[in-house]
Amino acid sequence: RAKAMGRNTYAIYDSTLEQKAKDRVQLISRLHTANDNDEFDMFFQPRYRLSDGKLIGAEALLRWQPSPFELVEPVEFIDFLEETSLIIPVTWQMFERSCIQFKPLLERNSELFMSFNISAKQLEHPEFITKLQQLLTLTEFPAERLELELTEQTLIQNVENSRHILRQLTALGISVAIDDFGTGYSSLSYLKNFPVNVLKIDKSFIHDIDTDKDDFELVKTMITMGRNLRITTVAEGIENEEQLNLLKQESCDQAQGFYYNKPMPFIDFKKLV
Ligand code: C2E
Ligand code: MG
Ligand code: MG
Ligand code: MG
Repeated sequence: RAKAMGRNTYAIYDSTLEQKAKDRVQLISRLHTANDNDEFDMFFQPRYRLSDGKLIGAEALLRWQPSPFELVEPVEFIDFLEETSLIIPVTWQMFERSCIQFKPLLERNSELFMSFNISAKQLEHPEFITKLQQLLTLTEFPAERLELELTEQTLIQNVENSRHILRQLTALGISVAIDDFGTGYSSLSYLKNFPVNVLKIDKSFIHDIDTDKDDFELVKTMITMGRNLRITTVAEGIENEEQLNLLKQESCDQAQGFYYNKPMPFIDFKKLV
């Protein structure tokens, strides 16, 4: 189409594309250096039980600190880590560090667990379970205090492999959470076929439950379904007290969101515990 509009347009279109490709190559090369220079870190966002408001866990979230004054969130770079498979070494390193940091906290709060996000690239890697077990052994982190978050999208990319891995995780005592639940356009039948312990209802549904009747109905249905299937329900992205009250009223099990805390450096999470 740009070509049909004449030479100049074509040139602009072309140079933008070229610039984009250059930016991309540059960012990827920068991410490699970031890995070598140990510029990645984990933040922790607390999770609470709604029945008594108790802090019961935290989700570990990746951050990139290219300089002491910058903090980059995953939306800016996680796709590139996936694309280049850098996600595998980076997050294993982060996983090991998080287990070491988190472990002493387990004694201070007997219910506390750590939740960690796993990408499709990691799940399809043949060494996934072996590596996971190795790091749990190395750090002496109890499997029962670990939860892994997987999206519906990740699980349906390779159903047979996912089922196999989830069974092994369950056998190890690791809890399995479906992240961003409701956004995956996938069939609910996987809830029947996969061993799932936790549903994390996506924040896009939680965001308007206090103002949008339809969203509230959808969330109510997800909570009821979770209860009937004996799966723990977690509301992601809760930002105000009205949302909290509605979720409590519907007996949603747990919640996480800016209403309670934003993701924070480990040192701050430690103080909180
Ligand atoms: P996620 O796993 O669904 O994580 C929740 C995201 O929601 C986090 O964004 C968190 O900061 C944000 N959030 C929490 N509460 C609220 C709230 O009340 N309001 C709003 N607006 N947002 C809230 P973050 O840390 O930017 O991470 C984005 C995504 O990047 C994560 O979504 C996850 O898919 C991915 N990610 C983060 N860390 C890792 C990691 O270590 N490994 C992998 N594979 N993916 C990761
Ligand atoms: Mg964010
Ligand atoms: Mg998550
Ligand atoms: Mg999520």
